[in-house]
Amino acid sequence: MWTKRLFETIEAKRGELTALTCDLVRFPTVNPPGEAYEPCARFIGDRLAARGFAVTYVRAHGSPGDGDAHPRINVVARREGTRPGPCVHFNGHIDVVEAGHGWSVDPFAGVVRDGRVWGRGTADMKGGLAAAIVAVEAILDCGIEFPGAIEISGTVDEESGGFGGLAHLARHGWFAPGRVDHVIIPEPLDVDRVCLGHRGVWWAEVEVKGRIGHGSMPFLGVNAIRGMADFLALVETELMPKLAARRTRMPCVPDGARHATLNLNSIHGGLAEAVDEGLPAPVVADSCRLVLDRRWLVEEDRDAVRAEVIELLDRMKARTAGLDYSVRDLMGFEPTMTEADAPLVATLDHWIHRVLDRPATHVASPGTYDQKHVARFAPHVACVAYGPGELDLAHQPDEWVSIDDMVASAKIMAATALSLLGVDVGQG
Ligand SMILES: [Zn+2]
Repeated sequence: MWTKRLFETIEAKRGELTALTCDLVRFPTVNPPGEAYEPCARFIGDRLAARGFAVTYVRAHGSPGDGDAHPRINVVARREGTRPGPCVHFNGHIDVVEAGHGWSVDPFAGVVRDGRVWGRGTADMKGGLAAAIVAVEAILDCGIEFPGAIEISGTVDEESGGFGGLAHLARHGWFAPGRVDHVIIPEPLDVDRVCLGHRGVWWAEVEVKGRIGHGSMPFLGVNAIRGMADFLALVETELMPKLAARRTRMPCVPDGARHATLNLNSIHGGLAEAVDEGLPAPVVADSCRLVLDRRWLVEEDRDAVRAEVIELLDRMKARTAGLDYSVRDLMGFEPTMTEADAPLVATLDHWIHRVLDRPATHVASPGTYDQKHVARFAPHVACVAYGPGELDLAHQPDEWVSIDDMVASAKIMAATALSLLGVDVGQG
């Protein structure tokens, strides 16, 4: 029956948790290009090594952006329990997006004001990582014996796809069966919400190809821009309504994300213009390229998602002699969702209700985060995102995280970890 002492210990660490968040924010781990990864990883590793964790630094050699100037350094810390058992792993990405404009505080100073820590990465997600670290340290301070193991990792590059970060660890067996059973990623999904997973993504470049000709005699060429317009008309009239009619059982937020969606990211047609120099391109466009971003649902099938775009391109091609097309895949990830009745989710639900005195809500993310890499390489692992930051603040100027929410989430994470490891934490 550890609840009371555990929660009092975490409450007493409020100042320490705030200070740790400030310390992490002061590493300007901006990605791209991947600044200050190594000192930030070593700061986390040194702290946990002092608490008896076995600490390993894993560099993702050859991953995008990795080099001597910006090495992709991840840290993994593992604290063994007193006897064999499962392993609970907390993973936080240490990279942040650039600060951008519109700040009223220094984004990398770690400013504390009005019960909040302000700065780039406070919500997304150094506040969450700090809460997980302090949660685990409180377990150790209380002298609670646990079976199995607790791991904490700080990984890089989540904001650019996670290839040199969690993907690298997962690919190299760090989440293998027997090593890790439950993963909590303290992304900013709000302190009372458990994020079960995310939609899938397919990014592709579509190129419509025509035949060049003189601009004064367009009938002698085949205009790729007109072909693209024909394709886009089919997308608008046929594909978009179909996607809007598909509704998922995934609890995606906001509500619009409960449907399959398609965004047209960019379009480039014809030769590059030099209009300012008085040199417009006097030809029929022989190429038009479109980058699309299709977000798909657990109910959909990867091949079918692609096939329904190809089918419209085939119809475009068939209607105008001389047109052709190609499709190049840029990025693709499956949707993933941990089921709501998994012990990890049920345990988080229980402690959210207990600590906050209100029931937990389940959500799913419209966009992907590092859970995809756990799902790809370690399908036996139950993985969710749960953390203290507010989702709407991520990547915004004047980003902040509530100190009350960090403390509450630390209690919830500590009690959840112990429950999952089989320790009788009590009901408090
Ligand atoms: Zn994040």
